[in-house]
Amino acid sequence: MSAPQPRQSPDVPAEIPIEVPIAEVPTLLVKIFGKDRPGITAGLFDTLAAYAVDVIDIEQVVTRGRIVLCALITAPAAGGATEGELRATVHSWTESLKLQAEIISGTGDNRPRGSGRSHVTVLGNPLTAESTAAIAASITSTGGNIDRIFRLAKYPVTAVEFAVSGVETAPLRTALATSAAGIGVDVAVVSAGLARRAQRLVVMDVDSTLIQDEVIELFAAHAGCEAEVAAVTARAMAGELDFEQSLHARVALLAGLDASVVDKVRAEVRLTPGARTLIRTLKRLGYQVGVVSGGFTQVTDALKDRLGLDFAAANTLEIVDGKLTGRVTGEIVDRAGKARLLRRFAAEAGVPLAQTVAIGDGANDLDMLNAAGLGVAFNAKPVVRKAAHTAVNVPFLDTVLYLLGITREEVEEAEAPGDGDGSPE
Ligand SMILES: [Mg+2]
Repeated sequence: MSAPQPRQSPDVPAEIPIEVPIAEVPTLLVKIFGKDRPGITAGLFDTLAAYAVDVIDIEQVVTRGRIVLCALITAPAAGGATEGELRATVHSWTESLKLQAEIISGTGDNRPRGSGRSHVTVLGNPLTAESTAAIAASITSTGGNIDRIFRLAKYPVTAVEFAVSGVETAPLRTALATSAAGIGVDVAVVSAGLARRAQRLVVMDVDSTLIQDEVIELFAAHAGCEAEVAAVTARAMAGELDFEQSLHARVALLAGLDASVVDKVRAEVRLTPGARTLIRTLKRLGYQVGVVSGGFTQVTDALKDRLGLDFAAANTLEIVDGKLTGRVTGEIVDRAGKARLLRRFAAEAGVPLAQTVAIGDGANDLDMLNAAGLGVAFNAKPVVRKAAHTAVNVPFLDTVLYLLGITREEVEEAEAPGDGDGSPE
């Protein structure tokens, strides 16, 4: 290996020139397009190196085997090789590889991005051209500019992220929430910046969010009062009944049930598809994860152990002499209680509230969803969907990862055994 040689400009000026502001420097945008193969990027910059130009920006994407490589470079210095020679060399190199090249002269760097930067994640199942057009038009209508688009995932849904600048996050979120509802895709808008990458806390509701069931209905089935309880649950979740009243009314129906039913109910609980993937990925990424439930600690504590959660809180069914009394003990976890617990968990985790994510489906989740930095309505009742920051309406809990900007590849990496962090599976 020979030692790297300092770059020699073909014509070194005798005096050091006064630095020209980048905005006034002549620049060339070199765009290469064609069939991808190994060595294209190295080949282009090898070709450019002969002209002693500097690289200001590079973007490259490969989609279905086609490469688009854009390089923004300084134009060759006056007195040396000409821009015309550079153009001719690049064109002959691309022709030899059956690639296409476009070289555009100009001045300076990219136009600075507008203030106000957000990430817009779109989940489609499928993602249609029509809905993509509607999202893009909606962004444009707010005065926002789409700076970049890339795919986060193709499974279990198609997830695409738009980087948007030039509009504040709140009006962009409002505009997109309105259009998303009409076109059948889920859209999340979050502010860009360091906070998105900072360690976070995710707090989930349990019934119909982390699990597919309503736990009290599982108990009610054993007590033979399932229909009665389900009717009260539906009214409570739709916001028609005070949660605490409905909780006491439903638990009273369980009075006299044998405590052995608790084990049976634990065994009957079905996790929502993607729940394990969501939690495992978040944990691998250093997130803390908790649950808050208007259900019962007899079930949530078991879920906490089973899934390795950091926090869990719920109501506790009173059991006396081996029987359910039909009462709950301790602090009631209701709508306000869930928000209070989110704040408590955040304080214990040392995570600012703005860096928390809350996920829930019911009206009693609304305070928690609004208190969190990002509130996600998961297959939620309409009243909840309307009020939350964002809504996911596909039945896969791991799609929440895409709203956080985590790609499917990263999810699969976190799932793979022996990924180098030394933790056991
Ligand atoms: Mg729920």
